[in-house]
Amino acid sequence: MGQPMVVADGVYWLRMPLPFSLNHINLWLLEDNDGWTIVDTGINTLATKELWQQVFDHHLKNKPVNQLIVTHLHPDHVGLAGWLCEVWQLELQMSRTDYMACRVLMSDTGKPAPKAAIDFYQRAGVSDEQLAVYKNKFGGYGKSIYPMPDSFIRLQDNDTVAMAGQQWHIIVGRGHAPEHLCFMCPALNVLIAGDQLLPSISSNVSVWPTEPHANPLKDWLDSCAMLQQRIPADVLVLPSHGQVFFGAHQRLQRLIDGHEKSLLKIIAACSKPQRNVDLFSQLFRRPITDDVLTLAVGETQAHLNYLVTHNKLQTSTDDMGANWYQTL
Ligand SMILES: [Zn+2]
Repeated sequence: MGQPMVVADGVYWLRMPLPFSLNHINLWLLEDNDGWTIVDTGINTLATKELWQQVFDHHLKNKPVNQLIVTHLHPDHVGLAGWLCEVWQLELQMSRTDYMACRVLMSDTGKPAPKAAIDFYQRAGVSDEQLAVYKNKFGGYGKSIYPMPDSFIRLQDNDTVAMAGQQWHIIVGRGHAPEHLCFMCPALNVLIAGDQLLPSISSNVSVWPTEPHANPLKDWLDSCAMLQQRIPADVLVLPSHGQVFFGAHQRLQRLIDGHEKSLLKIIAACSKPQRNVDLFSQLFRRPITDDVLTLAVGETQAHLNYLVTHNKLQTSTDDMGANWYQTL
């Protein structure tokens, strides 16, 4: 952890720890003649800050950091953006949607869980005990993020940014985050993929209580198909978790196929009425513990909303406020 390793001309891979079962994140350092670009920041912990300090002290060849880019709004990616901006006097570069959503979510920290969120998890069928844990943990997102900069520079699809002496084209993916930035460098044939394309785990695609009828799985599947069109088959992929890898097109196809299979399993299971929580065993191999409950409900709801939108499922609500889904 914390030791930059070269993966392409001027591009360094830096791994930082995460205090979760997913125990690391990959960040990227790109070297120019006059300074460095950092892509993604790590989560807001003392351990990550100390490792950054070691990188600053030993690996920057006496050049400053002059650009900070964040792929998307999740705390392991954006957690230390505010801190890095303070340390290096930088303006954060990020997508507008993710910057704004991050600020909104952070403003929930310190507040009690709203009725809309409690209703959402009751509709999913979570137990009173699980709901109590959720209420207790509410606002955790903001605690993992250093106070955000009050302004930013917007990056969007088809923009180019200069890093490591090359031009990188921005490709926006959706479904895992609202407006996730990927960076494609044709000269190096390298893609900084963030969480939009991971080698071994499939990125979480979730419905959240703020937008209970959202259809992020459609966004995600569309983005996978779009990436197959816009990146070369032989591109070197730099993902945020796991190892750098080749085989982007096949991996995208496996992700698409995996979700299609899950959709078919849900359709089959819903020949009898099912609640969201009854379907975990169709989608997840491991038991769903409290620490991953909201991710599991969110991902299951993403599949349910997709099928409801495509008129494959109908819904009814019981006396407890839970939604039951049945195949049409
Ligand atoms: Zn993410």
